[in-house]
Amino acid sequence: MFKRILIANRGEIALRILRACHEMGIEAVCVYSKADAEAPYLRLADRAICIGDAPSKDSYLNISRLISAAEIADVDAIHPGYGFLAERADFSAICRDCKITFIGPSPEAMGKLGDKVECKRTARAAKVPVFPGSEGAIEDEEEAVRVAEEIGYPVIIKASAGGGGRGMRVCRNEATLRSNIKAAQQEALAAFGNGAIFIEKFLEHARHIEIQTLGDRHGHAVHLWERDCSVQRRHQKIIEESPAPGVDRKKVAQVGEAAARLIKSADYCGAATVEFLMDEKQNFYMLEVNTRVQVEHPVTEMVTGIDIVKMSILVAAGETIPFKQKDVEVRGHAIECRINAEDPERGFMPSAGRIETWQPPGGLGVRIDSHVVQGYRVPPNYDSMVGKLICHADTRELCIARMARALREFAVGPIKTTIPLQLRLMENSDFRQGGIDIHFLERLLK
Ligand code: ADP
Repeated sequence: MFKRILIANRGEIALRILRACHEMGIEAVCVYSKADAEAPYLRLADRAICIGDAPSKDSYLNISRLISAAEIADVDAIHPGYGFLAERADFSAICRDCKITFIGPSPEAMGKLGDKVECKRTARAAKVPVFPGSEGAIEDEEEAVRVAEEIGYPVIIKASAGGGGRGMRVCRNEATLRSNIKAAQQEALAAFGNGAIFIEKFLEHARHIEIQTLGDRHGHAVHLWERDCSVQRRHQKIIEESPAPGVDRKKVAQVGEAAARLIKSADYCGAATVEFLMDEKQNFYMLEVNTRVQVEHPVTEMVTGIDIVKMSILVAAGETIPFKQKDVEVRGHAIECRINAEDPERGFMPSAGRIETWQPPGGLGVRIDSHVVQGYRVPPNYDSMVGKLICHADTRELCIARMARALREFAVGPIKTTIPLQLRLMENSDFRQGGIDIHFLERLLK
């Protein structure tokens, strides 16, 4: 097993990885930017190294500084967490060249699954259902129109290298499609450094259901069932839960097997999420694969009892997955609320600043994953998420009741957060009945 790991990230996920390291008897080396110098979790690290100024490009995205820190601290491995460099094949390759284990997939596996167009190709070969749409990248307007006519409107234009819900355009007719193709290519190039775009069928009433998977270096791949992440705003997840309410378990098992087959076909090592949209007839279509641990991984941990971060370290060190597919069971129900420092009353404007009050809830079945303490200053430079509140209970109904009481207990100020909105959702009768789809929240906010 590794002796020492460098955590190439910040905030709650850095703390989450540090906790897994310490439980496994591994030393954790944290890195931080000047904006994070006061972050309280740094005190828990076996060593903390400043890697540069506040802008991500000068610190958390700066590969040479991270590799220097790894060499100075003499670590065996680097855990990238999510965001920043987690999905960069070049970073995985550089780690390998420097003889540092990258805790995550090889650059080859990332190539097959990380890029959306390539991923669809890999998925078709592994017989995983994908959206009707273009086979590869779209070259010009005429090709786009031809494909759209084949699959029927509405269609959605996406960037192959896209992420974070950005760069997507819904087109309901030929005229809009024609006028959007060029702009989408230019925007993709500017935002993601890759102008490749593709089109697929746009689903009006879909649910976002994703499968957590795990692969090792010995050709094994398993799935840890599903998460429903349909409560979104601007394609960004706000609440996630497991299991997905009202979905046929046999169907989920089938999709889970398909997801495990897909990552196995790419010789994938580590945690990956295969994302699907599900239509009203419970047909699944693959969206993309996230080649890293995800923000919402705790809901799966709560219902399966499997520590996903620990597993990602274990398999990176060359161990075999220590359980079989048939042993992975879903017990009870779990929900996660992403607590963002944003003001839902004012268009979700970021609300950075000093947190004078921070009193998180507790009690049976309540988990908080957060790096925040009272007096913490939220730096304006990074993501607005200040923590995650996860609840677990025997049934969905009890879990919603527990989440509602935990959200009521949670006192945060003076910064504004998403807590009041999430409480409103827990009290919403459609949500309670499981009547959610990816546009549910936007309808509610209108
Ligand atoms: P990103 O990588 O930017 O997160 P995804 O492909 O994962 O993009 O899609 C994010 C969200 O966008 C989905 O959860 C869904 O809400 C919406 N979306 C994506 N593709 C489609 C589609 N074909 N039809 C309807 N909604 C879609």
